[in-house]
This record gives sequence, C-alpha cells and structure tokens, in this order.
Amino acid sequence: MKPKVLVTRNIPRDGLTELFLKCDVDYHDSNEVISTEELFKRVKEIDALLCVAVRASEDLMEHAPKLKVISNYGVGYDRVDVEAATRRKIIVTNTPDVVTEATAELTFGLILAVTRRIAEADRILKSKVHFRWGPMQLLGFELTGKTLGIIGFGRIGQAVARRAKAFGMNVIYFRRTPRCESLDQHDRCFYKPLKTLLKESDIASIHVPLTKETYHLIGEAQLSLMKKGAYIINTARGPVLDEEALVKALKDGNLAGAGLDVFEREPHIHPELLELDNTVLTPHIGTSTLKTRTAMAKMAAQNLIVALEGKRSPNVVNPEVYELT
Ligand code: NAP
Repeated sequence: MKPKVLVTRNIPRDGLTELFLKCDVDYHDSNEVISTEELFKRVKEIDALLCVAVRASEDLMEHAPKLKVISNYGVGYDRVDVEAATRRKIIVTNTPDVVTEATAELTFGLILAVTRRIAEADRILKSKVHFRWGPMQLLGFELTGKTLGIIGFGRIGQAVARRAKAFGMNVIYFRRTPRCESLDQHDRCFYKPLKTLLKESDIASIHVPLTKETYHLIGEAQLSLMKKGAYIINTARGPVLDEEALVKALKDGNLAGAGLDVFEREPHIHPELLELDNTVLTPHIGTSTLKTRTAMAKMAAQNLIVALEGKRSPNVVNPEVYELT
C-alpha cells in the first residue's frame, strides 16, 4: 500500500511527479484555503502532510494519528508547531536555499520601488493626470554610498548584501552569532549590535525567522533609533515588525518609507499602510517565480518521500526526533 499524503494547496505539479508516483496523493487542487473542519477530516488517514499555507497545529496532529512527516512548503516554518511534532516523533522539514535568490530579488525590488518612488510614480500616471516632467518632482533617495543594515544575516540576508554591493552600498548586519572578522573583512559586510545598526542604517532590511525571540524584534523603541528619513523593508515575517509602531513612525515623518511583503495579521493589512504614499506593499510574493515555486514543490516532495522511506532528510528542522526511541 502506498503512503497517504495530503497536499493542502495547488503548487506547481511539475515538482510533484515523483510524489504522485510513490504516494496516494490527496491533492487540494485549488487556491482556496481548506477550512479547518475539512482539513481535520482529510488528515485522518494520512502518513504525511505537504503543508502549504495551513497551520500545522497540535490540534491538527491530534486528528492525524498516523502522521509521520510534515513537509513545509517554504523555508519559514513558523506555522508548524515543531515542539508538538517532536513530542509526537513527527519529522518536520522545510525548503531552504531554493527560495533565497527570488526572495533577495524581491527585497531589492522593494528597496528600489520605495526609495525611487516607482510605485507612487506609476500610480500618478495611471490616475490619468496630464504627464508633466518637473525638476523637483518625485525626488527620491539614491542608494550609491548609502548604508544598508541587514537584520538576520543568513541565506537571504547575505543574498541581499551581494545585490547591495553591486549598487555601491555599504553593508552592515546583525545576527546572534557574528561571523569571524576575516570573513567580514573579505566580504566588506560588518557586524554591528542591533542598536548600532539601526542608528547607522539608511535602509534596514529584515531577514530573521519568526520565533518567540524575534516577535516584535523591531518595535517603537527600535524604530526611534533610526535616522530621520531612513527606510525599512520587511520580506521576512510580519510579526517581527510592530505594525502599529511602523505606521506611527511613517506618519510622524521619522521614517521616509517602508517596503513590505509580509504583514502582522495576514491576510489583513493595517488600513493606514494602504493609505500612505510612502509604502510599497506586495502580497507575500517573495518566492513567487515559477522557477522557485516549482523548485520548492520538488524539494518539499523529496523531503517527504525520503522521510517516509526511513532515510534522513537533509532539511529536517527537528533532528532531535531521530534520537527519540
Ligand atoms: P536563515 O538562513 O536561517 O537566516 C536567518 C538569519 O536570522 C540568520 O543569520 C540567523 O543568525 C538570524 N537570526 C535568527 N534568530 C535571530 C534572532 N533572535 N536575532 C537576530 N538574528 C536572528 O534563513 P533564510 O533562508 O535567510 O530565511 C529567513 C526568513 O525569511 C525565513 O525564516 C522566512 O520567514 C523568510 N522568508 C520569507 C519569504 C517571503 O516570501 N517573503 C520567502 C522566503 C523566506 P543567528 O542564528 O546567528 O542569529
């Protein structure tokens, strides 16, 4: 008998060929989110969950007594209750690396869109006003020679740094474990404590995972340290940045703008963020290229198959599960 798998949302099928071959797949071929009630019904008999944008709570696990693997479609696995999964000896995997370049590109897109007022200029033209060039019109902020502060300097943070270097920017970063000084010197990316980074950055870009520790890592106190006229970018997770505090800093004029791909209460967006001209907002499209979404599907399927075959998957986020008898 083939193992039973639920795929909770429509992802590129090209990445799922092996999964369909080796497993009995219940594929939710829709962009509609499965209701919790239906989800709990459909997980009853499954061995593995390919988890796309649903919460893998302890409650869900309770409804899935045969569940052995939760394969998260994405590098950020904050929607999975990993502690509960580990207690139940359920392997949890994610999709690192394949998402890095697309997310870094989107981050840079937001940096350019907000500092050079691209989205605002686009809105003006599309509002059908008469086209008029003006020497003082839509003056933006030039990146060359400016300082980008990267909060969370892992795969995506470093990919953003590479792009910033190509734009002639200075790069500083913060994370819990600084790299060795010789590597910082080699890359010309320098570690700074968070407070110093916020004080020195012209643009701060967030790239930490969402954890208990990073919830509201950037709040009112942190935003107040930033230079007047600085920008903030968030393509990590909404709750890392206190949205109320952000709106206040944008309205007070302390921050010049914000580029956001993620929001504190997705899919809800703070209404004032929608009203402000100095925000550029995208609906969580960091990994949204066909190439990356297909690679994610393939990796998530592979993680799941390998784990079901009893082999060690390279992308397990709770390896301690293997030590449990
Ligand atoms: P990663 O390689 O694990 O990098 C995370 C970085 O954050 C590391 O440098 C880590 O360093 C640092 N960090 C972790 N906890 C921290 C803390 N409490 N304080 C300060 N720094 C901390 O992850 P990644 O692949 O770059 O992905 C980063 C995040 O981006 C993901 O978790 C996901 O939520 C988000 N993401 C969003 C999209 C999107 O569509 N918008 C797409 C992909 C990813 P230390 O451990 O040394 O602190």
